[in-house]
Amino acid sequence: MSEEYDVIVIGAGPAGYHAAIRCSQLGLRTACIDKSVDMNGAPAYGGTCLNWGCIPSKALLDASQKFEDAKRFEDIGITIADLQVDLSAMMNHKNDVVASLTSGIAGLFKGNGVVDLPGHGRLVKDCMVEYVPADASEPEILVAENVILAPGSVPVDISVAPVDSNLIEDSTGALNFTAVPPRLGVIGAGVIGLELGSVWNRLGSNVIVLEALEEFLPMADRRIARDSLRIFQSQGLDIRLDTKVIGSKVGSSTVVVDYEGKNGTESIEVDKLVVAVGRRPLVSNLFSEDSGVSLDEDGFISVDENCRTKAQNVFAIGDAVRGPMLAHKGMEEGIMVAEQIAGGQPTVAYDRIPSVIYTNPEIAWVGSTEQELAENSVEFNVGTFPFAASGRALAANENQGMVKVLADAKNDRIVGVHVLGPHASELIAQAVIAMEFDASSEDLALTMFAHPTLGEAIHEAVLGISGQAIHMVNRKSGSSK
Ligand code: FAD
Ligand code: NAD
Repeated sequence: MSEEYDVIVIGAGPAGYHAAIRCSQLGLRTACIDKSVDMNGAPAYGGTCLNWGCIPSKALLDASQKFEDAKRFEDIGITIADLQVDLSAMMNHKNDVVASLTSGIAGLFKGNGVVDLPGHGRLVKDCMVEYVPADASEPEILVAENVILAPGSVPVDISVAPVDSNLIEDSTGALNFTAVPPRLGVIGAGVIGLELGSVWNRLGSNVIVLEALEEFLPMADRRIARDSLRIFQSQGLDIRLDTKVIGSKVGSSTVVVDYEGKNGTESIEVDKLVVAVGRRPLVSNLFSEDSGVSLDEDGFISVDENCRTKAQNVFAIGDAVRGPMLAHKGMEEGIMVAEQIAGGQPTVAYDRIPSVIYTNPEIAWVGSTEQELAENSVEFNVGTFPFAASGRALAANENQGMVKVLADAKNDRIVGVHVLGPHASELIAQAVIAMEFDASSEDLALTMFAHPTLGEAIHEAVLGISGQAIHMVNRKSGSSK
């Protein structure tokens, strides 16, 4: 047995590295164990998000959107001759961004006094952790006052299309294609399917997305889901709903995917197939049976609202516990747990977690949808504003989509904001702040917004709730479906 820490964190993804850094800032002697390695086998902190999730996907989404925008530069008076994609340079750019950020976490650990331990960690019992170093040196038992489990998640596999990392890939593979596949199949029209499907569609693939559900983006506002489906289809994404994959045959260079759809059993032949049907918590070899930690019926680590497991002084955060699998949700849980260990009583506002889908236009929302309010018998007022009436959106040639604001009819508090449009990911922060401060729609209506900005669309939508929008004809409040 060696080393005593106040806190050992297992996992240095967004949840774990936030927890570790805040623990250290609060004066707790902290170590963070992480097993992820980069393409050269060197330790790479930052978890899924930095290595093969949020960051590389956004690098490719931004680069591919610039290519797409450049194809339309003539509309705004700019001519480019011989527009080309150099995929290898684009991938190098993406890899450089990832390397810079993952090494940045190592620097942050050092600067904040977190002891970083590359390798595998496993909770044995009573806050004892078995650490197997990445350099193959002898395993050690480390002892801590508190342990935070932040192991993250991995893609879900389906037996009808097993990933072979050649022709059938998961999201990580789809971030590393070495050539643009002429025909790309994607199983799952969720967040990953839409984001990565968009990347390869923009770069030239014919993309077919096969989605089992009848409803497109069931978690989003209905109107926004409907409008976005139409826009994505107009961009060339062939999204087939109510389509169940029943098998796949891998040939020498193509995959035949069989599915049951609206027209019975059919097949498509593609050059690459991406499986994006969700993620599951990574809990194998993470804790011993007698550690006291248990799993819930969905395989997530059981925790209470403060992220405490059933084992004393053992916490779990991030993708491995209930709630949306989002980096910022895990980050907030990491901060909350660190401050609890240091004696504070912070909480996470689980009802105000923003969601973003980084397509073009982007989709973002926070709070309730109309359908959720109706299901809970909450009476509400609604204000909407289309970007087609926004001077800034028109000037930028990005005028698709709308803002929708929902306010409780009883007290006017904002209870949901939904955006389909340019920079929705940034705009939604205004709504999160407003809701964090319990703002009413009147509060936002009385707030001054700079002109011309995209944020004015939020202003106009809240003005619309009281029939006072200026740049559109007001309509009676009520459902906007
Ligand atoms: P992870 O990031 O998965 O990190 C866990 C770390 O723990 C990993 O490094 C893992 O190797 C390590 N680990 C696990 N077990 C052990 C062990 N026993 N010992 C040592 N180390 C261990 N979310 C967003 O909010 N916005 C986005 O734009 C977004 N884009 C995404 C795009 C893609 C393609 C994918 C796949 C995901 C995306 N996500 C996004 C989701 C986001 O990446 C996750 O929600 C987030 O990374 C979860 O953080 P985490 O810290 O819980 O786990
Ligand atoms: P998801 O849950 O968002 O979508 C999976 C989709 O696959 C669903 O629509 C589901 O109905 C469908 N599906 C499941 N099984 C199927 C089958 N057999 N055939 C056809 N369709 C099937 O999951 P994801 O897109 O894999 O993303 C995983 C997680 O990563 C999500 O929880 C998401 O929050 C997170 N993520 C977030 C972002 C972001 O915040 N922008 C980006 C990427 C990933």
